[in-house]
Amino acid sequence: MDIAGLVKSHFNLAVQEFQALEGYGSANYRIDTESDQFVLKLYKANDERKRLLETESRVLKKLIALPYDFPSEVATRYPQYHGEDGEILRLHRYIHGEFLAEVTHTEGLLVSFGQLLGRMAHHMAQVEAYQIADREISWDLQYFLRNKALQEYISAPEDQRIVDYFFLQYEEQVAPLAHRLRKSLIHNDANDWNVLTREGKVTGIIDFGDMCYSWLINELAVAITYVMMGKEAPLQAGVAVIRGFHEEYPLEEQELDLLYYLVAARLCISVCNSAYSKEQYPGSTYITISEKPAWTLLRKWLTINPILATKKFREAAGYGSRKFPATNEQLKRRDNLLSKSLSLSYKEPIQMHRSAFQYMYDTEGNTYLDAYNNIMIAGHCHPRVVRSGQQMLARLNTNTRYIYDEILSYSERLLATFPDSLNRVFLVNSGSAASDLALRLAKCHTGKEKIAVLEHGYHGNTQTGIRVSHYKYASEGGGGKDPQIIQLPLPKVYGSDLADDGKAGAYFGGEANQLLANEANGVAAFIAEPIVGCGGQVPLPVGYLNAIYPKIRNQGGVCISDETQVGFGRLGDHFWGFEAYEIVPDLVIMGKPMGNGHPIGAVVTTEAIARSFEKGPEFFSSFGGNPVSCAIAESVLDVIQNEGLQQHAKKVGDHLAERLSALMEKFPAIADVRGSGLFLGVEISSADGSPDTALASHIKNQLRRMHILVSTDGPYDEVLKIKPPLTFTRTDADLLCNAIEAVLEQESTGLAKKK
Ligand code: PMP
Repeated sequence: MDIAGLVKSHFNLAVQEFQALEGYGSANYRIDTESDQFVLKLYKANDERKRLLETESRVLKKLIALPYDFPSEVATRYPQYHGEDGEILRLHRYIHGEFLAEVTHTEGLLVSFGQLLGRMAHHMAQVEAYQIADREISWDLQYFLRNKALQEYISAPEDQRIVDYFFLQYEEQVAPLAHRLRKSLIHNDANDWNVLTREGKVTGIIDFGDMCYSWLINELAVAITYVMMGKEAPLQAGVAVIRGFHEEYPLEEQELDLLYYLVAARLCISVCNSAYSKEQYPGSTYITISEKPAWTLLRKWLTINPILATKKFREAAGYGSRKFPATNEQLKRRDNLLSKSLSLSYKEPIQMHRSAFQYMYDTEGNTYLDAYNNIMIAGHCHPRVVRSGQQMLARLNTNTRYIYDEILSYSERLLATFPDSLNRVFLVNSGSAASDLALRLAKCHTGKEKIAVLEHGYHGNTQTGIRVSHYKYASEGGGGKDPQIIQLPLPKVYGSDLADDGKAGAYFGGEANQLLANEANGVAAFIAEPIVGCGGQVPLPVGYLNAIYPKIRNQGGVCISDETQVGFGRLGDHFWGFEAYEIVPDLVIMGKPMGNGHPIGAVVTTEAIARSFEKGPEFFSSFGGNPVSCAIAESVLDVIQNEGLQQHAKKVGDHLAERLSALMEKFPAIADVRGSGLFLGVEISSADGSPDTALASHIKNQLRRMHILVSTDGPYDEVLKIKPPLTFTRTDADLLCNAIEAVLEQESTGLAKKK
């Protein structure tokens, strides 16, 4: 193409030199004349482009009033159309300066960036948008949800779920308020390679190709997204831009309140498009490099409590922050409403407001790393699980007296995770209801009454649950042991001087069997967790169940595995805890993680046991097995399987156990590290080997101050319990271990000083 000729004929300029530039949506050339520099753009002509360029011309005419550099047009001598394809031709002055992406971002620079955008907003709001008001581009945040179609190009499930989480939050929090947001023409791409600076101030902006008629706040959302990338303290950078903008063009509170999710949305559009482009142009290192900062900020964004971000954004515009009831007030209300028998975690209780995967956000703006909440196996508010519940609630909820597919489909999926002999399922609403029912089934099948339990075991809050839970009946005011309960010692390898190579199992198994031998009328059931959670995360030793199960069965009893805490892949090596022992129970109890926080529990058993139960009265639970619960529980199975969470638990759990064991070498206070996958216990003891309840509590409360959540349990509350959502990463494991190390280090220097 005769570029020089074109410039001469249309603009009467003599080209000395020209050079092709990178361009998106147009062919671009840098044009040098003797005295000036220009950019020539050739666009493919179509109606949309024409309307966009005409609007751009009107916008630029308005912006000329401002003391900034804009790509102002050089007037043509001829009508704009050129060439056989009817391209549209544009020439504008080349703008000098360094790009915002190339310079150090001082606060002054960022404020001046906001000021430019604010002043632009003022002028752009006065330009009629009619020609492009119906322009619908997927980079416009009001059409964010259209990018869902690109989500599947993100290959790693742990990345995809973050994007999906923000789609969900947008649907929940942004979309319902959309009609209340101010609209205006906006530039819509104030990224740091479109913004020019000189001597520490923003001086201009180029590339109006993404201009659209959108929510005014989106201008700022895009701008702050890019300046926050790569920053240690991203909010600080964002806040400076907001301040500048607000000075020039006052923002509304509701606009600032949505900014956190709009930034997330822009990041998601960016990573979705990168993922798509990577598929289109495999091997492009440019895409891989450019998507990195977006991913880094997106992952970091999850670690920032939206309440904190919104507080800062509001402050930048001089608005006060949203008020939550004070924790003290809430404590008083609690005291007046609830029984004191409901305890609170930590010396300084936390008022929670939101959560995302392994993070929990309190009302004060803090983010907690959750290393404790095993119920949220798929991660807090996992979008797939949330949506399955929302959709099913909106369609049908009923009970087992009708036929619906959800209960059948889920039962098939659940039973497929068990050995063939366990082929009947009863669905209920909690672990307690499950253990209660399992014991009823056992008694009904065996015709016997006595139940063998482990010391320090816990199996539920119903009357029967408490009867079989030494953890409760043996505690103060617990009522003591019922005569029908056979209490077997906790087979704890640590402290026993026996190795877990079969010797400990044989010893404790023998001890238990002696106690069982005294029962002339036999026992109905033996119930135990594979790793005794409330006992302080105590794994049953190898060979223990192999010794006991035959004894119970010989006496006409059945064996129950309580998988409420450990089931669904948390243990890493196995989906169910009993699988580690090469035995198959007759009944399995499950709950907690089954619905990722939604109340659902189950008993899985053999056909023979289910048959015995059928001879009694009808079993009915109003909510047990309802379509909503089943849909949610099935989505939890989907997530565990699709995201490889069991394998992930193994990998991260092994790393965490290794790091904790290294700490055990360093600090005598750590007496034992035990467990499997992401179900671990750390036993804390004093120098004389006795349980150190006070230190365990101190560590737990210090970690809470450092915004990491763990709990304590065990006979003396001397064991740190670690059982995070399975989205917990290796980096999270390191954070946790570093924090434990810091607390213990401080403790040992404190102790040394006291001595
Ligand atoms: N069994 C075990 C092993 C448990 O840990 C629990 C709950 N902590 C239950 C049963 C009872 O479950 P839920 O609280 O859902 O009733």
